[in-house]
Amino acid sequence: MSSPTLPNHLLPSDGRFGSGPSKVRVESVQHLAASSATVLGTSHRQSTVRNVVGRVRSGIAELFSLPDGYEVLLGNGGSTAFWDAASFGLIERSSQHCVHGEFSSKFAAVVRKAPHLEDPHVIEVAPPGAAVAVPSPTVDAYALIHNETSTGVAVEIRRPADGALTLVDATSAAGGLPVDPNQFDVYYFAPQKCFGGDGGLWLACCSPAAIERIERLAGSDRWRPTFLDLGIALEQSRLDQTYNTPALGTLLLLADELDWMTGNGGLDWTTRRCATSASTVYDWAEAHPFAAPFVTDSALRSNVTMTIDFDATVDATLLAQDLRSNGILDVDPYRKLGRNQLRIAGFPNIDPEDISRLTQAIDWLISQRAS
Ligand SMILES: *Cc1c(COP(=O)(O)O)cnc(C)c1O
Repeated sequence: MSSPTLPNHLLPSDGRFGSGPSKVRVESVQHLAASSATVLGTSHRQSTVRNVVGRVRSGIAELFSLPDGYEVLLGNGGSTAFWDAASFGLIERSSQHCVHGEFSSKFAAVVRKAPHLEDPHVIEVAPPGAAVAVPSPTVDAYALIHNETSTGVAVEIRRPADGALTLVDATSAAGGLPVDPNQFDVYYFAPQKCFGGDGGLWLACCSPAAIERIERLAGSDRWRPTFLDLGIALEQSRLDQTYNTPALGTLLLLADELDWMTGNGGLDWTTRRCATSASTVYDWAEAHPFAAPFVTDSALRSNVTMTIDFDATVDATLLAQDLRSNGILDVDPYRKLGRNQLRIAGFPNIDPEDISRLTQAIDWLISQRAS
């Protein structure tokens, strides 16, 4: 049987529900087009592009209400490159990692391979749980993850202990979940999740203690690849530049998104919007005998990536295919999790009305397949 065709009134206005890359707003693309003749194809060392970088840096500082002394750094390579950069430029000798999914495990794996660092202290908890840091006097950096995109587990960010840096992978959380900047030293992310932009860039909100660590390690004789040198990234960021050529389109999309977020009420507004979408999905799942939130502890359920398990009466792979053939995209679960599941992103760009329509579309498709 080919996929049933959804009636029009059940189609969301936009079919993109992927957890990254995620829905890009059409207005952002129009902003990009409007800037095409004056910004795209021009030098990133001149004021036009540097002003865009400056808008991004100040927009991020405003969105997160960064305290005095915090700075926004950026560079090429996305969050994955930032793990490598952090292994050279932020971890002094010994780090502790809270691992409860694919992304958090990857940073720990980077550190494990670094010959200049001690074996990382890894606290690992199986999905859908969350690892909790254990204060330790021998650790100089704690690696936390705000939203584990692979499982839909989100935690509140709190410093495990004073005297060490708190490094937070916020790739899919930043912009969609509340955070207190006093509770982190580095909050790093990329634009293709909550910010509905394009990939390839990393951004990091850094506390004075993090800046001090970056400057000290950059001044040491530790070898590091120039491309991953956070001392250089700091110098360049302060000039509203990146070390090497950035994707100008990525910067323009992000600058527009930051204007949109702050213009609508900032992080209070975006986080409330995500909370609305999340409760629609979780309430819907809990109201159905064949569905349930994968994250059993409701306090750990993400408001930006919602993972829903199905019982044996529903084939989630077929359901995702049926949705895809109706233009509803990328609700497949994280592949390595291997569950009968859908993962639905509720990033700020995604209209809560569309989330509601998506749940109705799923109901309708399941009833069609059952009959
Ligand atoms: C997507 C993601 C990454 C990887 O980001 P890239 O920009 O593709 O390198 C890292 N951590 C988390 C939590 C993510 O969701």
